[in-house]
Amino acid sequence: MNERTTLVIIGASGDLTSRLLLPALGQLLLDDPHRRVRLVGAGSSGLDDEHWRTRVHQAFATAGAEAALERVDFGDYVTADATTAEGMRQIVGAAGSGRLVLYFAVPPAVAASACAAIESSDLPDDTVLALEKPFGTDEGSAEHLNAVLHELLPEESVFRVDHFLGRSTVLNVIGVRTANRLFEPVWSASDVESVAIRFDESLGLEGRAGYYDHAGAMVDMIQSHLLQVLAIVAMEPPASLDEADLRDATSAVLRATRVRDGDPVANSHRARYTAGDVDGRTLPSYVDEEGVDPARQTETLAEITFEVQTARWAGVPFTLRSGKALGDAAMEVVLRLRPVRHLPGGFTGEAPGSVLRFSLGPDRLSIGINVNGGDDPFALHRATLDADLGLGTQRAYAEVIASILDHEPALSVRGDAAEQCWRIVEPVRQAWAAGKVPLDEYAVGSSGPSSWRDGASTEKTA
Ligand code: NDP
Repeated sequence: MNERTTLVIIGASGDLTSRLLLPALGQLLLDDPHRRVRLVGAGSSGLDDEHWRTRVHQAFATAGAEAALERVDFGDYVTADATTAEGMRQIVGAAGSGRLVLYFAVPPAVAASACAAIESSDLPDDTVLALEKPFGTDEGSAEHLNAVLHELLPEESVFRVDHFLGRSTVLNVIGVRTANRLFEPVWSASDVESVAIRFDESLGLEGRAGYYDHAGAMVDMIQSHLLQVLAIVAMEPPASLDEADLRDATSAVLRATRVRDGDPVANSHRARYTAGDVDGRTLPSYVDEEGVDPARQTETLAEITFEVQTARWAGVPFTLRSGKALGDAAMEVVLRLRPVRHLPGGFTGEAPGSVLRFSLGPDRLSIGINVNGGDDPFALHRATLDADLGLGTQRAYAEVIASILDHEPALSVRGDAAEQCWRIVEPVRQAWAAGKVPLDEYAVGSSGPSSWRDGASTEKTA
């Protein structure tokens, strides 16, 4: 931690800043009384100093962190167009001396133009750039943006934020796997039959058509976040948790990942919601939400099955799914093990493969196993062992900001990984754009189209 760090948020008046970044900063400062930060807000339309401070105050209050305001030194609010060289000079110049963190909380196209507008000679040596998802719009644009960034700073000083998995959650998954002889040896195709990674939420569009209607569930969640989770689950055990070891291991997985059988038509589903009730709220059909253009055919639920072409994982389906307005909201990673090779004759009942389930936010591990006993010692039934792994993902953004302020890039997305994630989903995007995969429908509050029976949703009942 460095007391002279200046955090410049470009896009200070935006939704991400007030809803996620500032409350997380407040929480972080509250948790660590030795931490101080100089805070500068910037944007293209005028927000005066007083309004900016009020916003920070309100955002800290949502995290119960008003007391942490005294550890913030406010710089003047900067009104500037970040996409111009002059605008970026003004923004960087307002930061003053010491370490500089430039956080781009702006639409992706603005972030890309802003990075191109920075003069490297204007940046202090100890500068960190933080960029939000989506990083580029396809593999080529991600490659180009990486080239622009690498002209400015070394890779270790570029943070491509993936707030989905907080540091604790990633470490929880790695810890359970690598610290237990019970799990470490079964972590491969020899024993694992399938992996499902699911992020189903009950929230609908919530007024975010401007962004979401162009992105859809696949780009919003699978391309950006869930493939990173896949990489954590499927990586070779790293020698250490250092940035280089961890990111080398996850990038190797992504390079080996593709849509199962190279067939996006057989291995992807898409759907959008129709009117209904969820969590006591009535939502309109997606196509009737304000700002949605039905002709864009944007999916609000996507499910894709991938394979990891390595000796460890050959043949194991990795099904990634995410959607909105669903009745059974859950964030989870589920590993289904193969059934035993031989069940001694005499037992009654089923002996399906054991199931390891990481539920995220708060994080829990549950293990479904077959046991007998009770009234009839020959009868098998399912028992579940549960362990609480802590808050995990609930603290994700505070951990993101801490890692940026402390310059620990281990869990930010490395440039090559960002490019790979676009490469991996490209065949699906092409198949969908060509209309080769039907756009199904599901009612708000349901668990998705009933015809999708063999994917990640079936793991809910495992
Ligand atoms: P908003 O549209 O709410 O905010 C965008 C911000 O960018 C505004 O403060 C706007 O300020 C500023 N801005 C736009 N153009 C310029 C410019 N040329 N120069 C300087 N500032 C500019 O977007 P969000 O906050 O929702 O999203 C920001 C980023 O965060 C996006 O990349 C998004 O994908 C990502 N993200 C958002 C999440 C969310 O929940 N909102 C979650 C995860 C990621 P002004 O009007 O003053 O110019």
